[in-house]
Formats: sequence, C-alpha cells, structure tokens
Amino acid sequence: MRLYIVLLGPPGAGKGTQAERLSKARGIAHVSSGDIFRENIKNQTELGTQVKDILDRGDLVLDDLTIAMIRDRLKRADCEMGAVLDGFPRNPAQADALEVMLAEFDGQVDVVPYIQVPRDELISRLSGRWTCRAEGHIFHATFNPPQVEGVCDHDGSELYQREDDKRETVERRISVYLEQTAPLIDYYRGKGKLVEIDGNQAIDAVTSDLLAAMPEQGD
Ligand code: ADP
Ligand code: ADP
Repeated sequence: MRLYIVLLGPPGAGKGTQAERLSKARGIAHVSSGDIFRENIKNQTELGTQVKDILDRGDLVLDDLTIAMIRDRLKRADCEMGAVLDGFPRNPAQADALEVMLAEFDGQVDVVPYIQVPRDELISRLSGRWTCRAEGHIFHATFNPPQVEGVCDHDGSELYQREDDKRETVERRISVYLEQTAPLIDYYRGKGKLVEIDGNQAIDAVTSDLLAAMPEQGD
C-alpha cells in the first residue's frame, strides 16, 4: 500500500524540514507545492510567469492550477510508494480534490500531523530561513546553520533568502494561513486523521515525534 502523509502547520512550522526527513525515513517522495512553484519561476516556465506575483505577495495560487500541478506530480514514478505532502492542500477545496485524486491512485490520506508553533517563533524562523537554489534544502542562520555560510551542505549550491520571507509578507502569509488553511485542522480531525505535534522543540525531537505518529510499515 502507498503511504500518503499531509503535513499541516503555519508557514515556518518546519514542514519542509521535517518532510525531507520523513521522506528519507519512509522511502517515499517529498512533494512540496511551494518548491514546484519556485522551480517554475526559476525556469521561467508559463506556470512560473503566472504565479510569480502571487507568491511574492504571499497569496494563494488558484486552486485549479495548483490541483492540476499536484496531480501530475503524484503520478510520477518516484511517488509509487506514496508521498509526504508539504504545503498542499491549503484549503478545503484542495483537500476534497486530493481525496478524489488519491482514490484514483488507490490510496488515501493516511495521517495528518499538525505541527504547532507559537506565532513569535514562526517569525524568527522565517526571518532567518535560508533556502538552497538547486533543490530547496532548508537552513536557518542560527537554529540550523549550514557548515559553510551561504552554501548548501547537500549540493553545494547557493543559499538565498526567499522574497516572501520579508517581514510584511510573512505577516500576510500567516493571515492567509489562519483564514484559508487552518480550517483543515478540523476537517482532518473530523476524519480521525489529525495528530497534533509539538513543533516548538529541537528539529530532531520533532522528527522523533513525527516518526512515532506514522502508521507501521505494512499496515
Ligand atoms: P515550513 O516549510 O513549515 O515553512 P521550514 O521547514 O522551511 O518550515 O522551517 C522554517 C525555518 O525554521 C527554517 O529556517 C528551518 O531551518 C527552521 N526550523 C525548522 N524547524 C525548526 C525547529 N524545530 N527549531 C528551530 N528552527 C527550525
Ligand atoms: P511555507 O513553506 O513557508 O509555508 P510554501 O513554500 O509552502 O511556504 O509556499 C509558498 C507560496 O507558494 C505560498 O505563499 C503560495 O503563494 C504558494 N503555494 C504553495 N502551496 C500552495 C497551495 N497548495 N495552494 C495555493 N498556493 C500555494
């Protein structure tokens, strides 16, 4: 059976950081909607041109575009054993679409860890976040620094500060999260899939709690 994990939590909660680790631990793909949008912007594709201003403002991209993009991604060979979804779904319409899509692939959302972090901590995390140009690997100036400043430990590429990690845009993204994405907490709680995780701990401690919340292999 495929394993599909949806990571829920505000911007800066640690979804990307933990998704990388869970995907390695369980041998499933890491699917980050934000990374795919940023990759398209970097490569100046048609999709990239359509979404750049939206990402820079901190608003959500249209559901139809986002859903079609994730459907294509989940059909790829590296998702054969399942995926950790990071940043998708972001509203109830996307969550409904995900359910239909996974049913087509003979799967379902298995577990939804909700990573909780206080607002002040989110702001310090996002303002010190450094992201790798090549693959989107994530670091923090103080909380998780790379071995060499400005250089990704994993692939040697340049680290940059995301345009939308500026203070004003961070505030906007947190409001968008509260309005549009936070309803998914009750949505998945109602389906019995939600597991609350204390995200205000060291990165390794959060990973252990997440691994403990995963279904056993073969279940
Ligand atoms: P999200 O994908 O939810 O926006 P990220 O994984 O990109 O979050 O993490 C946001 C920032 O916080 C990054 O700079 C990351 O290195 C840092 N970070 C992630 N988890 C923790 C943690 N448990 N403690 C301190 N900093 C963290
Ligand atoms: P973070 O990790 O800090 O929460 P993401 O990388 O997930 O940020 O998302 C960055 C931006 O990409 C969002 O502010 C939004 O503009 C766009 N985006 C990402 N995922 C979605 C989605 N599922 N629906 C609509 N827009 C999205």
